[in-house]
Amino acid sequence: MQASCWRFCRLRAGSPLNLTGWEPVLRSVVQDTDFDTSERLTMKRDRLQTERIIEMERVFAGLLDALGEDCAREGLARTPGRAARSFEFLTQGYRQTVEEVVNDAIFASDASEIVMVKDIELYSMCEHHLLPFIGRAHVAYIPNGKVIGLSKVARIVDVYARRLQIQEQLTTQVADALMQALHPLGVAVVIEAKHLCMMMRGVQKQNSVMKTSCLLGVFKEDARTRGEFLALLSQ
Ligand SMILES: [Zn+2]
Repeated sequence: MQASCWRFCRLRAGSPLNLTGWEPVLRSVVQDTDFDTSERLTMKRDRLQTERIIEMERVFAGLLDALGEDCAREGLARTPGRAARSFEFLTQGYRQTVEEVVNDAIFASDASEIVMVKDIELYSMCEHHLLPFIGRAHVAYIPNGKVIGLSKVARIVDVYARRLQIQEQLTTQVADALMQALHPLGVAVVIEAKHLCMMMRGVQKQNSVMKTSCLLGVFKEDARTRGEFLALLSQ
């Protein structure tokens, strides 16, 4: 998996870049080993029990059989096992919690401007067709005494993306989780994604992108703050 394309924006158009109050966040970027994505991969505690893997292998073998395939042919002989492990990885979010991924990466700060993490790579699975949807998440918040290590924002997105999902719910869950973890003045989450269930089958629209947003706190209540967020988003 490629490292995410990150942009850390400190906002308020026209004002000089002043890092006072941001040091904890910046330091966390340097210290966090998960910034190179290693922690975004499956860890031992997120594995499924062996019996569940065996059950999934049996189900995938049944699926191949129902398709009229020969499970014994060379190319498919190990496919049920591979597919089971693949689904284990893609659904590891069920076995993770936001508390545990955030861990101790919350720092006191008097920062009061919008903190935004743009272009977080997103891979999830549509719960209706078990096909992927792929895109980017943009997450912003306004601190209220606390900031979070930037890499943890991506990990929160992963906790919910690595489940069977619908995009609308994923967007809301990420926003709610950040609200609960930080109690910020507001949270804004925008997700844009392409859905393979729409591209490969059904209406076969190759270029449609679904956009969803969830605005909480000042982003919802204050038009000026919302405008500032939308301006940042389009930069
Ligand atoms: Zn679908």
